[in-house]
Amino acid sequence: MNAKASLLLIYTGGTIGMKKDPADQTLKPFDFSQIMEEVPELAKFALKIDSYTFTPLIDSSDVEPSLWQDLAKLIKSRYDSYDGFVILHGTDTMAYSASMLSFMLHNLDKPVVFTGSQLPIGEPRTDGKENLVSSVEIASAKDSDGKALVPEVCICFHSLLLRGNRSIKTDATGFEAFSSPNYPPLATAGIDIVYNIPYIRRPNCNKPFEIHTKLDTRVAILRVHPGITEQVVKDTLLGDGSRAVIIESYGSGNAISKPWFTDIVSQARRRGKILVNVTQCNKGTVDMNLYATGMSLKKAGVISGRDITVESALSKLFYLMGESPNDAWVKDRFERSMMGEISE
Ligand code: ASP
Repeated sequence: MNAKASLLLIYTGGTIGMKKDPADQTLKPFDFSQIMEEVPELAKFALKIDSYTFTPLIDSSDVEPSLWQDLAKLIKSRYDSYDGFVILHGTDTMAYSASMLSFMLHNLDKPVVFTGSQLPIGEPRTDGKENLVSSVEIASAKDSDGKALVPEVCICFHSLLLRGNRSIKTDATGFEAFSSPNYPPLATAGIDIVYNIPYIRRPNCNKPFEIHTKLDTRVAILRVHPGITEQVVKDTLLGDGSRAVIIESYGSGNAISKPWFTDIVSQARRRGKILVNVTQCNKGTVDMNLYATGMSLKKAGVISGRDITVESALSKLFYLMGESPNDAWVKDRFERSMMGEISE
């Protein structure tokens, strides 16, 4: 490991950074300048670790786009001063934030590692120490040429390092809370941290790092289910508030074959809505050519999200729509992998 490596530890909130207040036994965020004291294991790394704390600290259920914009700007302003960034974040929306940051940070050649925990760092059985120590090691890991081993936005949790825009929270209580069913882990942490080198993205590093912070969040999500009413489908697909709607379909991208459903989809397309088909299944891909119910969506002009996660589809739309008012451009870009979020 490079003895001069330096990391910025960014604390946004979440369970990891909370500590039981002996006065009333409630969980309260603690001051992260004390981190070395809380996690003495970090001192064993020959690293310079600085910290930055967001105020107010938030439960990640309260994350708003402004946090993503602030994170991107913070990373940009400190980019040249650090070899990597570790973001401490609540688990509830970590997959959304990691997906979003992956689309906002372009030409990234340094690691941006999200982590958190299921139990506060002060608890005897905490998973926070292991998650933090592994994240720090990964964020500072270099290859023999001195380049970052994992120049990606990722999530480090339990024993897995996952691509951020492929990750989903799949366990509300277990320590292995995240998985990326459609993409192999970028690394696994056992006795050693074993990097899955062929699966780690290596961008074109000749271009300077840049951030894109304009987001258009006018996206609705329609999860189809047996018994869904025509009115609910109308309200979601035709509502004035959205520019795009993600249709969470069944299996390989199938929705309801009843004429009323396809009519509303066609009507939404005529109104100019960008419609994206993402499967409700955690694993696998949308293929609208397989069944008649999928084909009718394709014919109506619904775009295939293929094997993208809902979290990633949402943030990709936020980013693309923020970049351009041109819907044809958004649709064209959406269908192609930008940051490794779709299998090619
Ligand atoms: N509600 C918390 C949060 O997302 C849960 C956690 O951090 O695990 O901030």
